[in-house]
Amino acid sequence: MSRGIPIPGADADGVLLALPFLKEANFNDNATVGKKVVVIGGGNVAFDVARSAKRLGAQQVNLCCLESRPEIPAFSWELDEAAEEDIAINPSWGPKEIKVVDGKVVGITFKRCTHVFDENRMFSPAYNEDELLDIEADNVVFSIGQGADMNGFTGTSLEVDGRGRIKWNPATFQTNLPNVFACGEVVTGPGAAVAAMRNAHDAATSIETFLTTGKIEPVTVLKPAPIGKLPDFTTLKITRKDKNDISVMDPAERLKSFVEAEGGFELQTAVYEAQRCMNCGRGATMARPEDCAACLSCVRVCPYGAPYISEARVAGFSWESCQACGICASVCPGLAIDIAYNDDTLINEQIDKGTSGVTVFGCQYAVPTIKNPASMASPSIPGVNMVRLMCTSRLDTRHLLRAVENGADGIAVLACPDEECRHRKGVNWAEIRTNEVKKVLEATGIGAGRIAFMGAPGGPEAFGRMMGEFKAKLDELGPNPVSKVLAVD
Ligand SMILES: Cc1cc2nc3c(=O)[nH]c(=O)nc-3n(C[C@H](O)[C@H](O)[C@H](O)COP(=O)(O)OP(=O)(O)OC[C@H]3O[C@@H](n4cnc5c(N)ncnc54)[C@H](O)[C@@H]3O)c2cc1C
Ligand code: SF4
Ligand code: SF4
Repeated sequence: MSRGIPIPGADADGVLLALPFLKEANFNDNATVGKKVVVIGGGNVAFDVARSAKRLGAQQVNLCCLESRPEIPAFSWELDEAAEEDIAINPSWGPKEIKVVDGKVVGITFKRCTHVFDENRMFSPAYNEDELLDIEADNVVFSIGQGADMNGFTGTSLEVDGRGRIKWNPATFQTNLPNVFACGEVVTGPGAAVAAMRNAHDAATSIETFLTTGKIEPVTVLKPAPIGKLPDFTTLKITRKDKNDISVMDPAERLKSFVEAEGGFELQTAVYEAQRCMNCGRGATMARPEDCAACLSCVRVCPYGAPYISEARVAGFSWESCQACGICASVCPGLAIDIAYNDDTLINEQIDKGTSGVTVFGCQYAVPTIKNPASMASPSIPGVNMVRLMCTSRLDTRHLLRAVENGADGIAVLACPDEECRHRKGVNWAEIRTNEVKKVLEATGIGAGRIAFMGAPGGPEAFGRMMGEFKAKLDELGPNPVSKVLAVD
């Protein structure tokens, strides 16, 4: 439900509220506006209104808000795109009165807003009544916030606060009524969709506890610890990958209709963009401090300077610097390190699916290289089991040996081209691990030829060929002797 402001002229013909206006524009082809439209408000909805008015044919659209330019709450790209669409943005103006002739809006007067918030960041606008701005208008659209329509609860004993929101216990999500829960913007007030979803997740947890245990208990809301700025010494070592911008229709073109103006990414570009995320905060953790020998191996191998040895002589990891490559976990002699993003359980589950044939270890980002994600996720090649790692630098000799122990006849390690690897020398680490296991297979008589370090395939067909050639070599070696032992067991 949209709110208005009771200034003189607010009931005149041509004064509109944001949501009914947007609904009309969205659902009814015959929605109309005059040539001159003034939108009051500075949030995302106000920009939706202003941009919709332009698409409906308004020639002059002014958006006026209390906030100064840096304080405007809408996303900055909304401001940029509105400016491209020739919408005039007028910060620091508050509505004083709407001018009306014969019951119809003809303009609006604004007074200068000198500040919006007091020192406690409470909404407390102040004005200079001597500095005025007159704008001609056929329509004035109030877009100063939405509230819930509580009519449906009239006659119930559900308690509502002074701002028209359902009263709730933020820890349990309970309302004043027994066993009645509430969440979302009807309790928090307007915000972004993602915040409402988060709130609903926590409410669902509370409700689940109630339904399964009969108890109403505070929900433990996990709040991620903030991660600091990347230190310069880490930034310098990260392979820089420039950002792609999504395609946006030219302003003149997009003003012709309500057609979505922003194109998405092609699959390849979308995966490239995902690859730019370095998983800060999802990397190395000291899982078993009692097993850390303070041997400094992790400190030596980390490409980003993330590990350190604490005064207690136990390794620790800087969340800011750790880029979740996994190299430290694979060299730790005490197996003391866990990698949160790509933990051993997840990797082992994939390895254990291969009890014969070929087990292929590959970087998840090799996907764009072979152009067909489905073929990597569930290869159509019979007898090929894919193990997807976040980067082949995560590869551990234990992972490779596990595949052998499970009975895989052969192991292939697919590595991205060096220049494509997101971690410096990540490919080298994968090769080192492969060679280590090669030596073990040689020494045990299982056969060094059962493991191969391969480049990334150029596509599904090349991948099929590579596997075919490798399988032919494996056929010459015969089945993995470990499988016989497994069969006896
Ligand atoms: C014009 C506009 C543009 C927006 N653009 C964006 C954007 O670009 N990005 C973004 O992140 N967010 C945007 N938002 C905000 C986003 O829509 C909200 O954050 C989100 O929808 C809130 O979710 P919610 O579940 O709390 O409420 P809602 O999505 O409003 O859901 C409430 C539900 O309750 C139902 N309901 C209402 N009364 C009753 C009743 N008495 N009994 C039973 N059911 C009832 C309603 O029908 C509705 O289905 C926008 C909002 C508006 C108004
Ligand atoms: S996961 Fe990689 S970046 Fe993080 S601490 Fe270990 S070696 Fe360094
Ligand atoms: S490699 Fe392992 S044992 Fe050595 S310091 Fe790092 S965490 Fe400790």
